[in-house]
Amino acid sequence: MPEIENCIFCKIVKGSIPAEKVLETEKILVFKDISSKAPVHLLAIPKEHVADLKGISILGKDLFEAIAKVSEVAGINSTGFRVVMNQGQDAGQEIEHIHFHILGGRKLLWPPG
Ligand code: AMP
Ligand code: ZN
Repeated sequence: MPEIENCIFCKIVKGSIPAEKVLETEKILVFKDISSKAPVHLLAIPKEHVADLKGISILGKDLFEAIAKVSEVAGINSTGFRVVMNQGQDAGQEIEHIHFHILGGRKLLWPPG
């Protein structure tokens, strides 16, 4: 799996920086967000470095299958949850390795700020 230099999420995939992993498949990793915004706040990423939605292609299927699975593992499947992908500066994207936030465990405001 090629690692992109200085990409935090590539380092998590490689294991060179730690993360609390919740689910791992051949192509996808789900781990806890380090600064959780809800009782359950997970990040689902492709293990391969994909910068944005244009590059996601068929990995999208694997990602959403992993998200569905992890919602059961995390116990938020019946109470509900939100999936968020921030792309670009107006959305406040900080890390340029595509990631889907999975938020749950409390009532979530809509629309977000
Ligand atoms: P975004 O603003 O959509 O790019 O979100 C990046 C997310 O990555 C934020 O919610 C951060 O709290 C989270 N994050 C940054 N570094 C780490 C890390 N080392 N482990 C887990 N989550 C992280
Ligand atoms: Zn990366």
